[in-house]
Amino acid sequence: MPSGPISTKLFELAKNHIPGGVNSPVRAFRNVGGDPFFVRRAKGCRIWDVDGREMIDFVGTWGPAILGHAPVPVIEAIHSAAKEGVSFGIPNPYEVEMARTICEWVPSIEKVRMVSSGTEATMSAIRLARGFTRRHRLVKFDGCYHGHSDSLLVAAGSGALTHGHPDSAGVPPAFAELTTVLPFNDEAALEEFFDRQGHETAALIVEPYPANAGLILPKPGFLQKLRDITAKHGVILIFDEVMTGFRLAKGGVQEIEGIKPDLTCLGKVIGGGLPVGAFGGRADIMDHLAPLGPVYQAGTLSGNPVALAAGLAQLRELERQNGYAALEDLGRMMEDAVLGILRSKGLNYRWYRRGSMFCLFFTEKEVGNLQDAKTSDLAAFRRFFHHCLDNGVYFAPSQFETGFISMAHTEADMTRTAEIAAAALAAL
Ligand SMILES: *Cc1c(COP(=O)(O)O)cnc(C)c1O
Repeated sequence: MPSGPISTKLFELAKNHIPGGVNSPVRAFRNVGGDPFFVRRAKGCRIWDVDGREMIDFVGTWGPAILGHAPVPVIEAIHSAAKEGVSFGIPNPYEVEMARTICEWVPSIEKVRMVSSGTEATMSAIRLARGFTRRHRLVKFDGCYHGHSDSLLVAAGSGALTHGHPDSAGVPPAFAELTTVLPFNDEAALEEFFDRQGHETAALIVEPYPANAGLILPKPGFLQKLRDITAKHGVILIFDEVMTGFRLAKGGVQEIEGIKPDLTCLGKVIGGGLPVGAFGGRADIMDHLAPLGPVYQAGTLSGNPVALAAGLAQLRELERQNGYAALEDLGRMMEDAVLGILRSKGLNYRWYRRGSMFCLFFTEKEVGNLQDAKTSDLAAFRRFFHHCLDNGVYFAPSQFETGFISMAHTEADMTRTAEIAAAALAAL
């Protein structure tokens, strides 16, 4: 079904003034074809487009909406904070409360600084790691996304150990050369790299559960291997938990897996839907930031009172409702339904889930890295996506994204979703 008449008209107008009609590329639906719909309202697990169509939403604004859309405690916190002023540019009490909460929930974080996006968090953490170690090289993994700063928009070369090359026009090759891209879950490639270049490497950054190429899980022991090998070579281990932080557990993947990174990046859930990011970790490293140390980092709107009031309200509500246990129950409910449907249809597509994050890869190959994920049948995914959307269920418009369940999804929503997904798979 094409998007409705009002969405179509808005998209035409938008394209006159906004490149591609969107402010972030994945919203343009290029991976699934067709035009995007425009949203008028979102509440609970539902969104309504400008043409009045209602959808059960499993995108959740790409992760932040863990309580569902427009939860009352968050909206009230925004109202009461805004009444006192929307930005001060001088310290406010919410910053102290947020920092205290983060340090309490994520024990590896001894000190933390607030920023306004996940991109800023990773960019700043890398500068800090470079300033602290006085080394320049950076290691990342193929398929991990860490925002759009220059050092991180780098793709793997053809071999596992080639230096990176720019993944975007406008990134100077000289920057990209300082980033090495390794395959995820490959201990041999990791060891070979560290033997050769560990001594010149400032930081290794990783999504501990990569969630921007679908959802990929580390093999047992892989994250511990990262911890050990970085410690051995004096390399800063950065966990990018922008997606997983406060989504899977109070302490993120590092709590679940029992690994202590040196620095952690946060975003998404932490802002309750407003623009918030954070990076933090070992106090001896964090104290290299200005004004104490030589690494410059700043932000006009960093620690914004309205944004932090929203984020704090979301975290407190999650705690009050025992959110992570409830989300695990909902996730399991979805998993049972999906596995049942796949079995009954004789399909061997690969399903991955942790808590409220999930991905169904349209491939029979086990997915341990980006290369495996790329074996997915994208045409089949596209048909599945559009069938679901036409019937009122909105999954992310790309095979290479993770789905999110919120506290606002009910058993009835899950049952309805399962019926529609089953019909979509039958129609492939
Ligand atoms: C979304 C995301 C980012 C970037 O965050 P923005 O707020 O979009 O800049 C960085 N890292 C990970 C793991 C993400 O999922």
